[in-house]
Amino acid sequence: MKHLFLTSILAVGALMASACGNKSADRQSAPAHDTVAPRQAVPGVATDADSVYARVAEQVAFGPRVPGTPGHTRCVDYITRRLKDAGADVTVQDTLFAPAGSGMKPQRVRNITGRFNAGAPRHVLLLAHYDTRPWADQESDKALHNTPIDGANDGASGVAVLLEIARLMKQMPSDVEVEMLFVDAEDAGTYDDDFSWCIGSQAWADAFDPTARRVPEYAILLDMVGGKNAVFPREYFSERYARGVNNLVWEAARRAGYGDRFPNEIGGALNDDHIHIMRMGIPAIDIVESANSATGSFNPTWHTLDDTIDNIDRATLKMVGDVVINTIFQ
Ligand SMILES: [Zn+2]
Repeated sequence: MKHLFLTSILAVGALMASACGNKSADRQSAPAHDTVAPRQAVPGVATDADSVYARVAEQVAFGPRVPGTPGHTRCVDYITRRLKDAGADVTVQDTLFAPAGSGMKPQRVRNITGRFNAGAPRHVLLLAHYDTRPWADQESDKALHNTPIDGANDGASGVAVLLEIARLMKQMPSDVEVEMLFVDAEDAGTYDDDFSWCIGSQAWADAFDPTARRVPEYAILLDMVGGKNAVFPREYFSERYARGVNNLVWEAARRAGYGDRFPNEIGGALNDDHIHIMRMGIPAIDIVESANSATGSFNPTWHTLDDTIDNIDRATLKMVGDVVINTIFQ
């Protein structure tokens, strides 16, 4: 995933046609709010920090999850097995896809869906990408740029939080259908080309037929949710096109006592999987670290060989898991 700036934002097309500004210009000051006692939407059910951390470590142990590699296939099998063990109905979209007009060669995409409580009165979509970037191109040493990264934060963290929520689903109220989408091929884009990112979610959107299936009320994307002391401002496009969902999430965070980590500020404008979910008419938001105190943007480990399990913060993973649970069931 990458930041978009003015020219790229315009290039994304109709959805973004009136969007403007860069990251720094989009910042707003946060209204002050009260601190309240932490609150759980489902009493007694909370993310277990060690459990979700273990799910990150298990993915990293497969090696880089670059499409076409053994580590990637092992990760597909792993996510599928974990979902089935949690009681989900699992389907895999296994297709060849290239974005229309991109000139790209079609590539194999495997998007994994796990569905809980099918047919329940409410219906939400949660998603994260499981592939990892083939190149450590943000390393200062150019000799390292072709080395694949571990993707502990960029990839594994979002998947781990979803798998932890999956594990807890048996203890949750059954009135919400939770559809979990693990998207492939998010992170092999080139920085000067918008279409080359998020191939998996583009393939999912391309096959999405609202007359043939149920349309979720909203969608929440998790990306890079395991950084040390990560801060999650409201991503620009999420706020512009799905503010109501952002309000639900940031209010749930505030009520859980995490208001300082989920500030009511506008963060970067990101080309990430939520864009393609929004194109299907589903209000979609991105929970993503994009106001790191050292970089002012992503975590310093982004697209480097430092994106390892050693730089994962189990408290951040737990916080994000609890915020998502509290949002869905509040
Ligand atoms: Zn990435």
